[in-house]
Amino acid sequence: MTLSRKAALLLATLSLPFAPAALARTAHNTAHKAPVAPVAAPARAVPANAPRLLVAIAVDQFSADLFAQYRSHFTGGLGRLQQGAVFPAGYQSHAATETCPGHSTILTGMRPAHTGIIANNWIDQSVTRAKKVVYCAEDETRTAADPKDYVASVGHLLVPTLGERIKAVWPTSRNLAVSGKDRATLMMGGHVIDQGYWWKGSGFTTLEGRAVGPTAVAQNAAVTTTITAGDKPFDLPDWCGARERAVTAGPVTVGTGRFALNAGDANGFRVSPRLDRAVLDLATRLVDEQKLGKGATPDMLSVSLSVTDFVGHGYGTEGTEMCIQLHQLDTALGDFFASLDQRGIDYAVVLTADHGGFDLPERLDQQALPKAQRAGIALLPEALSDKVGATLGLDPKGLILADGPAGDFWVKRDLAHAQKAQVVAAAKAELLADPQVAAVFTADELAATALPTASPDTWTLLQRARASFYAPRSGDFVVLLQRGVVALPKPGPGYVATHGSPWDYDRRVPMLFWRKGMAGFEQPSPVETVDIAPTLAALIGLNVPAGTFDGRCLDLDAGAGSTCGVTP
Ligand SMILES: [Zn+2]
Repeated sequence: MTLSRKAALLLATLSLPFAPAALARTAHNTAHKAPVAPVAAPARAVPANAPRLLVAIAVDQFSADLFAQYRSHFTGGLGRLQQGAVFPAGYQSHAATETCPGHSTILTGMRPAHTGIIANNWIDQSVTRAKKVVYCAEDETRTAADPKDYVASVGHLLVPTLGERIKAVWPTSRNLAVSGKDRATLMMGGHVIDQGYWWKGSGFTTLEGRAVGPTAVAQNAAVTTTITAGDKPFDLPDWCGARERAVTAGPVTVGTGRFALNAGDANGFRVSPRLDRAVLDLATRLVDEQKLGKGATPDMLSVSLSVTDFVGHGYGTEGTEMCIQLHQLDTALGDFFASLDQRGIDYAVVLTADHGGFDLPERLDQQALPKAQRAGIALLPEALSDKVGATLGLDPKGLILADGPAGDFWVKRDLAHAQKAQVVAAAKAELLADPQVAAVFTADELAATALPTASPDTWTLLQRARASFYAPRSGDFVVLLQRGVVALPKPGPGYVATHGSPWDYDRRVPMLFWRKGMAGFEQPSPVETVDIAPTLAALIGLNVPAGTFDGRCLDLDAGAGSTCGVTP
């Protein structure tokens, strides 16, 4: 496994309890090793005023647009967080605004160019199995012929998370992560996780080689009871009424759903507000089991709530479904914070998202955005291979590979160098003639581009793509679609809308920080999700070498004081 020089340097500096070479190990393998005390880092005193528990919450696909649209209705947990430090224009500043890259930025403080998580999936033509698509959170070396039956692993993440950094300095600290998705648990938790759970099939599962503990067994029993019995639909809040309007996308009609749960329908449970509540209930149970926030050193709890994303994909962002989801999310978060209060824990919260989102083109068209459209099938790698193959007189089979009509594209690896360059040039010319394509950048162009340092709202498309570029994994070229073109050619049940574009509806997310007694403020200027790790590190007095993070510490003190102290 190739490791970036920067990552290797960081790990050496940190004396983390694993050597860089061991990074390729699976979570399974590292899970079996008792955390080794850091070699160089002496035990440091925890500042007296440091919170004893950091809670990092990612609401999957919670765009800044959704936050703006609904924030006046939040009275529960999201209402509470609005009393803290509010950054309504946080940026997942990179181009490939997908779940895995987005989660990888939040607690590492680094952009995908440094985390190595360039997308949810990429093509690796060197893998031995037939299917060359590699999932960001799998160990492809241990996957059998069927990639669906993968071994979940954090091995692709090149850098440590905040929870790992905390444990390296204070070995008694705990690092826990729970989510509806394995990639969210792993990218927020990192390589050294004390407890890690995610939803799989009909209940919560954990890292390979570990048993599901009694706390998660109890949570799974509660979930099973609900699924077995079924559940009535959710009430529609008064203020959701205006959203109730049916819209048709291909074979699917959405816009009026209320999440009635048929008995035995585990997938219906998953794609409903019930799963987020179950994740938060499991988190609360684990707080008790692990005595989080009660020790002498700070603990880290990561929670990623996936249902907003499932609802966004399945129903879009503007129907009754999203309105009910955000109301239920607000309520469930309120109950979660109340349960932490009851336990007398001094905790600090950050809530953000892994990426934003965009409604389905069919409803956008009705609601004053007629230029929204679905990507044409001519952009798919098979169609592109046919055209380029014909132009250059090459066999089109597997000539150009990709995981969809946008993002990274790869050229067949056994072509000669000059021939490969011809394919890239021909594909670029073909794509740029398509009115749906905004830009095509080659790997050479991206490698020659400096990582941007200006405010993320001002970045060019090239700079956004650069922040997603990691040479050993990225494609031979990257395709960015025009604003409003959705990279989902055909809608279907459960999948009518998507994100992943370099446009601000997918890049902008809220960043909300809260701690009891904190005087709140709102800062509308752009910040980045890579600012979260340095901000939280400073809050607990965790010193990290200057230059470690791509982000900066945000001063959460509303007055003349600073929460950033001397920490960079
Ligand atoms: Zn996501």
